[in-house]
Amino acid sequence: MRIDILTLFPDMCNTVLSESIIGRARQSGKVEINCIDIRDYTEDKHRRVDDKPYGGGMGMVMAPQPIYDCYLALCEALGKKPHLIYMTPQGKTLTQERVKELSKLESIAILCGHYEGIDERVIEELEPEEISVGDYVLTGGELPALIVADAVSRMLPGVLSDDECFEEESHFSSLLEYPQYTHPSEWKGREVPEILLSGHHANISEWRRQRSLDRTLERRPDLLEKAELSDSDRQYLSKKKT
Ligand code: SAM
Repeated sequence: MRIDILTLFPDMCNTVLSESIIGRARQSGKVEINCIDIRDYTEDKHRRVDDKPYGGGMGMVMAPQPIYDCYLALCEALGKKPHLIYMTPQGKTLTQERVKELSKLESIAILCGHYEGIDERVIEELEPEEISVGDYVLTGGELPALIVADAVSRMLPGVLSDDECFEEESHFSSLLEYPQYTHPSEWKGREVPEILLSGHHANISEWRRQRSLDRTLERRPDLLEKAELSDSDRQYLSKKKT
């Protein structure tokens, strides 16, 4: 899969995406991520990419021309139009479900706004999918774009090792993950649950499933409505509720 991030701060994105699991996945070619500098496409002789908002008001607005030309150049280089996403607090909130769907696409481009945002006409022209990372406002779309790139990349085949499998993680099947423990088996008087030391895989699996159900019921009962539950999960939950 190929991900292109259109940004005014490519170094900021590259630094984060060169580390850890995603950095290794890029190096081994399991995912290709490019950070493209929108400023390289401005026609302004002073390399400006923003201007004051019409109608007055605070801050600056990113002009349409550099963004549009940057996206067009990308389409030409790819020989097709990648699925375009604009990171904005006005978009639909990102979910694991949408992440899974995006990871099946061949190519996505993520547009990062900055300052007061981008000129509305380029949004109308390009009709991107608008995605938010939550109901709060950040200074730029770079951190949100990194969230999308990271969440999507770790879904790709071979990016996570077998031990880092994502299928039991929170939100993958709409349940929160069970609690995790590592060495030592006792820390500050707190012991690791005995069953995890037993080596009995079936019992450990059942214990983890039940803790996952407990956590979801306690912290995010809304998720249970869309979770894939077995008959024994339902029986367990109905006992808990009574
Ligand atoms: N004036 C805009 C508004 O009120 O909707 C907010 C602009 S924000 C300061 C600058 C840029 O940061 C946005 O264009 C967007 O790309 C990004 N951004 C900020 N918060 C975000 C969020 N919660 N989700 C996704 N992108 C966000």
